[in-house]
Amino acid sequence: MADSLIVAFGEMLIDFVPDTSGVSLAESTGFLKAPGGAPANVACAITKLGGKAAFVGKVGDDEFGHMLINILKKNGVNTDGVCVDTHARTALAFVTLRKDGEREFMFYRNPSADMLLKDSELNMGLIKQAKIFHYGSISLISEPCKSAHMAAMKAAKDAGILLSYDPNVRLPLWPSPDAAREGIKSIWNEADFIKVSDDEVQFLTQGDSDKEDVVLSLWHDNLKLLVVTDGEKGCRYFTKKFKGKVTGFSVKAVDTTGAGDAFVGSFLLSMAKDMSIFEDEAKLKEALSFANACGAICTTQKGAIPALPAESDALELIKSKAK
Ligand code: ADP
Repeated sequence: MADSLIVAFGEMLIDFVPDTSGVSLAESTGFLKAPGGAPANVACAITKLGGKAAFVGKVGDDEFGHMLINILKKNGVNTDGVCVDTHARTALAFVTLRKDGEREFMFYRNPSADMLLKDSELNMGLIKQAKIFHYGSISLISEPCKSAHMAAMKAAKDAGILLSYDPNVRLPLWPSPDAAREGIKSIWNEADFIKVSDDEVQFLTQGDSDKEDVVLSLWHDNLKLLVVTDGEKGCRYFTKKFKGKVTGFSVKAVDTTGAGDAFVGSFLLSMAKDMSIFEDEAKLKEALSFANACGAICTTQKGAIPALPAESDALELIKSKAK
């Protein structure tokens, strides 16, 4: 079914990035604003590829909140599940990559609107229409959003909807690394599909992410598919019946923000179109290669949402490398 709905749940915020690269937040003289939040990026990735997606979350009743809702609408994402908080502001994150390669973050979430989403505000009618319900772990960090996340996830599961989890570890947002590990793992066994990056495997297991037994320590019995993304190298996949890797595409990367979200959005769309990819290795590899192409293209331009590819862009990249 080409028109199956994918619902992405979680945060949408504004990233402020210095207008010159390689400076610290203190040194920066100007910032550019970019829409961010992994679940919202995933929803936009799906619609950009021609799929149907909705975003469920909360923004502030301020210029930035309305701007974000408009960006979702412009990208064709259903916003019937987006709430507006009249008291708290839309979340802001100031992010920079310093010359020494260290990433610096500064968040304005004291609390921000996304953290205040309540379960009573959830558009359950919309969630229950989904074929796939997708979420991250930032919505698990504080109440009342955590309870809303749990309620939405339970409703989706009870309705027989496939659960997709991309933890997207953001350590500075948690009280401690142990709290992050524990929080992220607390809903691990609910998911049908999990995508983690190699760095996340290392963080969650405290082991070498290149090693198969280390990755497989993240396996759980109800899981249909575990995918590990390996940056420019591509990705690895693990199911009950088969496992392997799919090589990535070599491109001139300028900004990797959103690569994982482009990858996930593309893959969820393939999944929504044909759930047999969990059992059919050839189909799975094809969908993962397409997702690798989408992730690669997303790195060739600054920002996440502006750099998301259309289906034709991804097909072109695949064709050009096949020559
Ligand atoms: P995340 O953004 O979640 O940290 P990755 O950095 O592993 O995830 O990227 C997700 C996917 O995007 C990779 O599996 C790969 O397909 C693609 N990708 C990421 N970085 C590059 C790159 N520099 N060159 C080509 N493809 C990339």
